[in-house]
Amino acid sequence: MSPGACIFCEIVAGRIPARVAYQDEDVLAFHDINPQGPVHVLVIPKRHITSLLDLAPGDDATVGRLVRQATDLASSLGLSERGFRLVFNCGDDAGYSVYHIHLHLVGGRKLAWPPG
Ligand code: 5GP
Ligand code: ZN
Repeated sequence: MSPGACIFCEIVAGRIPARVAYQDEDVLAFHDINPQGPVHVLVIPKRHITSLLDLAPGDDATVGRLVRQATDLASSLGLSERGFRLVFNCGDDAGYSVYHIHLHLVGGRKLAWPPG
């Protein structure tokens, strides 16, 4: 996919604005435009990866970074005591809508399980 065709690559490039929660050379975290809780942050690799189904062994460190960064953010946003949820969606049944992998960090309210 060309970067111009991907909303999240456009956010990485700074061509679409986002409320950034964290960034470094490899990772960007920004607040979801349609939050599903008091905290809803998306943690993405700056490098485009289309979906979980496209992950290669060389991406293991990237996925680990996303999980650790999301957990660090959960702590810094005050969620470590109450708890929080990290979610990767994949495919139509999960409602995957932006085809650039992203880890949802949701918290700040009681979350139902099983999810709808
Ligand atoms: P998915 O359903 O693909 O797992 O999640 C995509 C998420 O991206 C949704 O929660 C949606 O609200 C969010 N989103 C889509 N477009 C934008 C955008 O332009 N900016 C931000 N901040 N979030 C977006
Ligand atoms: Zn992308």
